[in-house]
Amino acid sequence: MVKKKTLSTGEEKILKGIGVSSGIIIGKAAPLERQRTTFISRRITAGQVPSEIKRFKQAIEKSKGELEEIKQRIVEKGFKQHSYILDVHLKLMEDRMLRDETINLIKEQLVNTEWALQITLDKISEAFDAIEDEYLKERKEDIKHVVERIIRNLVGRELRKIADLEEEVIVVAHDLSPADTIQLNLQRVIGFVTDVGGKTSHTAIVSRSLEIPAVVGLEDITTYVVGGETIIVDGTEGVVIVGPSQATIKTYQLKQQHYRYLERELLKYSLLTAETQDGHHLTLQANIELIEEIPAVIQYGAEGIGLYRTEYLYLNRKTLPDEEEHFQIYKRLVEEMVPYSVTIRTLDLGGDKFSSHIELADQVNPAMGLRAIRFCLMKPDIFKTQLRGILRASAYGQVKILLPMISGVEELREAKVILEDAKRELRSSGVAFDPEIPLGVMIEIPSAAITADIIGREVDFFSIGTNDLIQYSLAIDRVNKYVSYLYEPLHPAIVRNIKGVVDFAHEEEIEVGICGEMAADPLYTLIFLGLGLDELSMHPLAIPRVKKVLRRSTRTDGEHLLKEVLQFTTAKETEHFIRDQMAERFPEDFIQCAE
Ligand code: PEP
Ligand code: MG
Repeated sequence: MVKKKTLSTGEEKILKGIGVSSGIIIGKAAPLERQRTTFISRRITAGQVPSEIKRFKQAIEKSKGELEEIKQRIVEKGFKQHSYILDVHLKLMEDRMLRDETINLIKEQLVNTEWALQITLDKISEAFDAIEDEYLKERKEDIKHVVERIIRNLVGRELRKIADLEEEVIVVAHDLSPADTIQLNLQRVIGFVTDVGGKTSHTAIVSRSLEIPAVVGLEDITTYVVGGETIIVDGTEGVVIVGPSQATIKTYQLKQQHYRYLERELLKYSLLTAETQDGHHLTLQANIELIEEIPAVIQYGAEGIGLYRTEYLYLNRKTLPDEEEHFQIYKRLVEEMVPYSVTIRTLDLGGDKFSSHIELADQVNPAMGLRAIRFCLMKPDIFKTQLRGILRASAYGQVKILLPMISGVEELREAKVILEDAKRELRSSGVAFDPEIPLGVMIEIPSAAITADIIGREVDFFSIGTNDLIQYSLAIDRVNKYVSYLYEPLHPAIVRNIKGVVDFAHEEEIEVGICGEMAADPLYTLIFLGLGLDELSMHPLAIPRVKKVLRRSTRTDGEHLLKEVLQFTTAKETEHFIRDQMAERFPEDFIQCAE
């Protein structure tokens, strides 16, 4: 049992985590209890063995029935992709070791089922602890959940249901599994906060699709919350305040009103074209990681997908996705986005991109190590499987292929050989694909930016990945908090880099966009307009805000602003200038710099 940290009266606790679903909510905290069910260990007589085994089998059947029901509800609510966890749990219920070992213990040791099950679990856990493989180690938690469920059914204890609560609540949990979430009465849940989790955690995905503010990765929020106290969740800033003072509540109520007003106002822009007052159109597209984001892409008015990060297809699984799986997912995406185009980026694993079962050897400097296109060129089979899936999907709509982490033209040529190979194979088997499928590269390594004129002759488009371009140009690890103050998007080196790439692209008459986080920040929109970018791709929610800036400006505004920006010698000067300029033009959206 985790000890609660007591807060003295009037003391508010501010916790910083990862905001994964924006919005502000003030409400009562409801910790989701996942306490272990207690049971009595009992000796039994030989005569009681058959009835004890019967109890065990009945508890398994009841547990399986519950899991089937949860699975059904998950699928009905449209979270089909999470049902695989329940399949794992269902399979574990059938596990020979779990069943046979427990039954043997009941027979031989003459102990009750709960006790036997606990001994079996301890044995299995020990065996798992000795395994090196991280993926398998994680499965130990699944077995624990399964055993917990069976024991709960043996002793007849119900999991506390938030469905029983009368009022609206903010769910506080260590983590939420799909099974947990589905047991909640989602009508009453107005916010989610969890100790663990990241952008792709189940809580994050669900809260975004339900548009409920959520903050994850708070580390120890569960230790500060007893239940019933007021908490504030700011999913936009990733902040949670436990036991806020009246003054803080007032501040956040105002923020909430302002936020809601802006959201409502901004949504109006979703339906309008991304055009300046002098008729210049800049294509605004969406970055997505999961196919479930398509409704948001459409709702916020994206003109296609500018970056589909496919790394997520390779995560949390034991086997690699095969060609058919790639094809089916891309096809669905492409068909749902008609008449717009979908840019599919090939695998960009490594560096900051989460581990999966793909073994990337331990590297001292992973950001500069074997990753992304380098990995794909070393494993052409894995690469070609994905390319074939993308090519097949191109028969169903407009698809573009984007190669990550290209450092020079040689890597591009190598990748093209594999792509041509894949095309040849499909052609000879009579499989349809778009023979003119556009091929582009991410410009995110300084060597590629400097040689963009050379690369540009051999591709159809560029997509500038400012997240990595900043990291590599300024030598600032993008995930290192100690140097984050040096991560400056407006550093003159970055502005010049982008300008150089745009100019080279246009000399080669190819289109160029930005798909790094900079594209989503409306502070930079006029600079990009001045630079002459053709496309900006961002998380869907950011689109209306950027569109608003565009629709209230002219191309000339952007060009004038850029002229000034290019004169500055430091990022701070530029930021100061641009902030003031934007605050003057859009006082409701930007804060003026203090003199
Ligand atoms: C980038 O580097 O800017 C980019 C868009 O790619 P990622 O963030 O996936 O590295
Ligand atoms: Mg990148």
